[in-house]
Amino acid sequence: MTVTTYQPGEIQGLIEIQASKCKGCDACLKFCPTNAIEGASGAVHSINKEKCLSCGQCLINCPFGAITETHSALKTVIEKLANKDVKVVGIIAPAVRVAIGEEFGLSAGELVTGKLYGAMNQAGFKIFDCNFAADLTIMEEGSEFIHRLHANVQEKSNAGALPQFTSCCPGWVRYLETNYPSLLPHLSTAKSPQQMAGTVAKTYGAKVYNMQPENIFTVAVMPCTSKKLEASRPEFNSAWKYHQDQGANVPSYQDVDAVLTTREMAQLLHLLDIDLANTAEFEGDSLFSEYTGAGTIFGTTGGVMEAALRTAHKVLTGEEMAKLEFEPVRGLAGVKAASVTLFDKELSQNVTLNVAVVHDMGNNVEPILRDVMAGISPYHFIEVMNCAGGCVNGGGQPIDGNGSSW
Ligand code: SF4
Repeated sequence: MTVTTYQPGEIQGLIEIQASKCKGCDACLKFCPTNAIEGASGAVHSINKEKCLSCGQCLINCPFGAITETHSALKTVIEKLANKDVKVVGIIAPAVRVAIGEEFGLSAGELVTGKLYGAMNQAGFKIFDCNFAADLTIMEEGSEFIHRLHANVQEKSNAGALPQFTSCCPGWVRYLETNYPSLLPHLSTAKSPQQMAGTVAKTYGAKVYNMQPENIFTVAVMPCTSKKLEASRPEFNSAWKYHQDQGANVPSYQDVDAVLTTREMAQLLHLLDIDLANTAEFEGDSLFSEYTGAGTIFGTTGGVMEAALRTAHKVLTGEEMAKLEFEPVRGLAGVKAASVTLFDKELSQNVTLNVAVVHDMGNNVEPILRDVMAGISPYHFIEVMNCAGGCVNGGGQPIDGNGSSW
């Protein structure tokens, strides 16, 4: 396995099938959203990297453990943690804290936020909860949606495209780029929470930590293998560009230096002899571990949409939604649709927002996109997540049955 952090644009597809272990059983084919797996039934399979989204769904569903990642930053992260001149910031995604306990003998689905903070603090990380950044994302994405909605209602010439698509799932973003490039103007321009967190950690965070940004090493801890691909994208060096504009002159660095999956974070804690199950809880040590319930629900299908609707309701009406849990977009149907009518103060009229939530993208998104292409989509806002159930079932989560990676 290559041990590395990311150079811009380095990763094209980071999942591979080991020929010596593949039985040609076709199990992986059923979970690939893009038909990227090639090879006849019974013969050794391989992955077409041009089509692969790096979502890791084949990896977690291979019954023979024949599918692995080509990139791991584990060794580099351990070296950075041992370097006293470097501040290592751990960006913790919501879906990690409900899964990592399994790797330490705790019950499946047990929420271990305090213990994970404690274990990572013991390992030397500064804690940056990705929920804090999810709150930033939803404010950006919700504001952008309201701007597009108003501009379209008022028939302004520069109105952005509707429906607006969410942009926080890198598997979905890559799918759209490679299969429906003409629909890219529909994507929200907001960065994902991971990328907002990395940028904030190296800009505002540099003041909080009293460190030069080039000495801050950001490690995203994610349920998702595709997040490694996202972190490596060449456009995601905004903090470096910001500091260049301020007169700094250092070689370029990425906003997120490394991504560890839930499995890899468990490996790291085992290697450092830290038993998460018996670690004292820790609350965090900066505002970066503060967040709302909206940020928390990003990890499940419907969560981003629900958070966006709460924000839109507050901004458009001036009031909180009476019932905070917007249940029509929860649950596990492949496509969920809902309408909400509210009084828009700025437009002085009622508006009805039609929204849709799509997960298990490979099986569900095509008809939705065909309607958008044909200009007949009834929706104003569409959330898409690649994995069935959302990030809680991401390709970086613990693997049932074969003892995971530890
Ligand atoms: Fe990654 Fe979540 Fe998208 Fe799955 S749904 S590819 S875990 S961001």
